[in-house]
Amino acid sequence: MRKISLLLYITACLLIVSCKKGNTSNEDKEPPVTTSYEPNTTVYGSNNYVKFIVGDLKSPIILASPHDGTIIPNNWPERDHPDAVTVRDLYVSALTTEIANALYAKTGLRPHVIINDVARSRMEPNRSLEEAYHKTEAANQLWREYHAFLKGAHDMVQKNVGKGLFLDMHGHGHSIHRVEVGYIVSKANLNGTDATLNGLATTSSIYHLSTISAYPFSQLIRGDYAFGTLLENEGIRAVPSKQDPKPNADDYFNGGYCTLTYGSKNGGTVSAIQLETHGPDLRNNPTERKASGAKIANAIIKYMQNHYGLFLGK
Ligand SMILES: [Zn+2]
Repeated sequence: MRKISLLLYITACLLIVSCKKGNTSNEDKEPPVTTSYEPNTTVYGSNNYVKFIVGDLKSPIILASPHDGTIIPNNWPERDHPDAVTVRDLYVSALTTEIANALYAKTGLRPHVIINDVARSRMEPNRSLEEAYHKTEAANQLWREYHAFLKGAHDMVQKNVGKGLFLDMHGHGHSIHRVEVGYIVSKANLNGTDATLNGLATTSSIYHLSTISAYPFSQLIRGDYAFGTLLENEGIRAVPSKQDPKPNADDYFNGGYCTLTYGSKNGGTVSAIQLETHGPDLRNNPTERKASGAKIANAIIKYMQNHYGLFLGK
């Protein structure tokens, strides 16, 4: 009888603890990850600082914009560590919205969209928590909320579609105005031969894609149906691509923490690509963003058709 009472007591305690974890107070460590977000709703984190615009249940696409936030919460000091990058990716959230709108118009499926509205100078979603160098526990908590949304979207796609693609959207200020397409493959390896690249699929954020695509890995990087090539075909310069196969010695971002974490390098059936977009002619004004959003959506659709067998006939 005493044993049963203790068991009941422990069970009750565990229930209380697990219920508490569901709240969004700053004391909580890990926000709950759920794969049961309601399609076509918007879910907000604390203070509406981050949001998850939940797409259609059968959408295979996830888009995210981590670095275009402008909100500076009271009493959140600036990330002033020497290794902390704080520059804003100007207009990338607006561009991401245009891509989402175009995808919906063209395919009838709304993608999942995750947006951070807090300034990068205060919270950095695209580094590990250890390397984000936040100055407040509240920023750590916001980071956890953002990642709970990304993980939730990732798990929704995996569960409801079986495979999918996450595009992490960024903006660079490099001198060459072209989209830098990142697969977690180093610049040195991209500058190597196709034979070298063909041995590197397992180290990339599109590893799962490489196992279902008909094309060798080097072709996924710079062949006829590589993502960069499909962007170039839409009139958007991109590296690597068939038209611009190697970054050579020029500035190039190969993908960050989110692409690494939510791509398929470490397993799973959702692959990830980081798109570092340029500003001029692409995202610097509303007219450019609307046109670019439609072009990038076209590239995504062709990519899904050719490698995933999805969006056929769209
Ligand atoms: Zn960025």
